[in-house]
Amino acid sequence: SWFSVGLTGGIGSGKTTVADMFAARGAAVIDTDQIAHQLTAPHGVAIAEIRTQFGETFLAESGALDRAKMREYVFSEPTAKARLEAILHPLIRIEVERAAQQAQGEYLIFVVPLLVESKSWKQRVSRVLVVDCLEETQVRRVMTRNGLPEEQVRAIMAAQASRLERLAAADDVIDNNGDAIALVSQVDRLHRMYAALARAGTT
Ligand code: ATP
Repeated sequence: SWFSVGLTGGIGSGKTTVADMFAARGAAVIDTDQIAHQLTAPHGVAIAEIRTQFGETFLAESGALDRAKMREYVFSEPTAKARLEAILHPLIRIEVERAAQQAQGEYLIFVVPLLVESKSWKQRVSRVLVVDCLEETQVRRVMTRNGLPEEQVRAIMAAQASRLERLAAADDVIDNNGDAIALVSQVDRLHRMYAALARAGTT
């Protein structure tokens, strides 16, 4: 399928919740976070290079990337983030294109948390779909889900594009300030539009 949607939103905005709803309607969903996890799981393709560049100390007992330790390090050492991304991003893109080749569905949805921050992702997709909610809602949901203190959630948000920057980059927006029921009609409408664009051969 040539038609593809890049689904993005800030941490805890509801990307996974919304992506699951599109998948249930017939979209093929490719989640870049899931791919990043696979690459950094025990025996993952990125592990050898992480060991070479960062050392054994960033690997857990299992052989997986020690995510908590790396997260902490990346916050304290600004160049570490770029070095880790230089390892992961090219591998993610390879796995994404492999998954896209094999995908079965009416059209493709790529879930990309930092899509708005990435020129190459914006160029890769036919449309950008932003899952939007108030920053206060994001903070509350992530604190609840991950048991993180408010300052840590806000620090993660500060390292991402702002709500306004994301909305400015959006072709389509899903309002996720309400409950799950409020998502249904929004997802239904967009799914009908995307399926029609895909059938029409839109790129
Ligand atoms: P992340 O960026 O951290 O991967 P995400 O954008 O994928 O997050 P979700 O995991 O879908 O967001 O949602 C974040 C949390 O908020 C989850 O615990 C989810 O169940 C909850 N949530 C999402 N949407 C709603 C909603 N409309 N009402 C109540 N809770 C919601």
